[in-house]
Amino acid sequence: MEATRRRSKAHSNGIAAGENEPTAQWGRAWEVDWFSLCSVIALLCFAPFIVYFFVMACDQYQCSVSQPLLELYSGETTLLSIWARSPAFTWEAAKIYAVWVGFQLFLYMCIPDTTHKFLPGYVGGVQEGARTPAGLINKYEINGLQCWLITHAVWLANNFYFHWFSPTIIFDHWIPLMWCANILGYAVATFAFIKAHIFPTNAEDCKFTGNILYNYMMGIEFNPRVGKWFDFKLFFNGRPGIVAWTLINLSYMAKQQELYGHVTNSMILVNVLQGIYVLDFFWNEAWYLKTIDICHDHFGWYLGWGDCVWLPYLYTLQGLYLVYHPVQLSAPYAGAVLALGLLGYYIFRSTNHQKDVFRRTEGSCSIWGRRPPTFIECSYRSADGGVHRSKLLTSGFWGVARHFNYTGDLMGSLAYCAACGTGHLLPYFYVVYMTILLVHRCVRDEHRCSSKYGGDWKRYTDAVPYRLLPGLF
Ligand code: NDP
Repeated sequence: MEATRRRSKAHSNGIAAGENEPTAQWGRAWEVDWFSLCSVIALLCFAPFIVYFFVMACDQYQCSVSQPLLELYSGETTLLSIWARSPAFTWEAAKIYAVWVGFQLFLYMCIPDTTHKFLPGYVGGVQEGARTPAGLINKYEINGLQCWLITHAVWLANNFYFHWFSPTIIFDHWIPLMWCANILGYAVATFAFIKAHIFPTNAEDCKFTGNILYNYMMGIEFNPRVGKWFDFKLFFNGRPGIVAWTLINLSYMAKQQELYGHVTNSMILVNVLQGIYVLDFFWNEAWYLKTIDICHDHFGWYLGWGDCVWLPYLYTLQGLYLVYHPVQLSAPYAGAVLALGLLGYYIFRSTNHQKDVFRRTEGSCSIWGRRPPTFIECSYRSADGGVHRSKLLTSGFWGVARHFNYTGDLMGSLAYCAACGTGHLLPYFYVVYMTILLVHRCVRDEHRCSSKYGGDWKRYTDAVPYRLLPGLF
């Protein structure tokens, strides 16, 4: 089966509103401005240390972020002594990590999806992604839910029956595993960079900005692949890091049980709320092919290293914190956190679902009782010169704000953090980071949409003036 296909140049329905406008550049800026370059250099230099700092603060300072800084400031400790106290790389961790990545690779490449055959409503198996700027449509083998289920079945079978390894294995090797994840993250980003120069998968979809650092960080190739089916973005975004997320939390839960003889309600809340988010990701993996990560971002250090290191280490800080601080929440507080988390999830999922249904049915659907929903008709050109039509929904949550899915995501993020109580700042890093990420993403996406749709995008922003919160932003 062909893993990539090229679409016809012009849409069969003819020409739409903005066709006569000058063709805009679709995608990220080719010329890198100073601000973007400085941000890229700062991220390349500091992101690995941010991850190290938080994990080290838990390991050496009971999750206090101020204590190490104060001690450094007063001269009580030095960077070298902090470094010397950190657990080093071990071959045992390297073995665990290699088995982990190898197992995920095996599940991804060798076991085609069967779950879509018996799970009603689940979309799996071979699916098409969105059109790339060069006009290509890639095909993907969607088997993430199956990989997640098999991995967790093996984990449970080990805990309750085989006892090959301790359920606290991840926590027990957390820092040595971080060195291994870094090695993989840098190796993948470097390989993608070299591959883009020597043997790109789709040369027409490569983007060279003229700045090596920016190219390395933000990626050159759009959808790098090895062979027909090994897709770097889908594998690294959706396998070793996200499948691990729920296992890491389970390992923290097991550690709490081992250390204190019980598991706190805060730990259960974090496991449940983040578990819903992860399962949602896998249940909707085919939809994920249409999100910005897959549709618009190029594959470089930002995605490669980010998926290997940033995601598993910083998205799981709440569970790590609760190992060191086993917070037991009052029932009303826990109830409020659960309600916030579920409401955030509902908004996040419904908003994404509304857009998905709207785009799949090309507007022939009902949203909040309105059939057909209101929308703005748009047109754009791909790099091959083809003119295509699209629609921007203005009903439902998409009429409330232009990115209400991000608002729901942020409410859920706040709930994970609030589940850790108010004793320390560290568990709140996640919501601060997500706010920066999603606001930046919102601005980046709108810049891209404006280039893509031109005047039609302006009509949309006039109709829906706010981005995240009506009346505020
Ligand atoms: P969206 O799902 O919001 O997709 C944005 C794209 O949708 C735009 O580029 C445009 O693409 C299209 N679009 C914009 N407005 C409309 C409209 N009114 N009607 C129809 N289509 C529209 O963004 P993301 O891909 O960033 O996010 C997907 C989800 O993933 C979000 O819920 C987000 O919160 C979550 N997320 C989570 C992260 C995490 O780390 N936990 C990281 C990033 C995202 P087109 O060119 O097709 O018109």
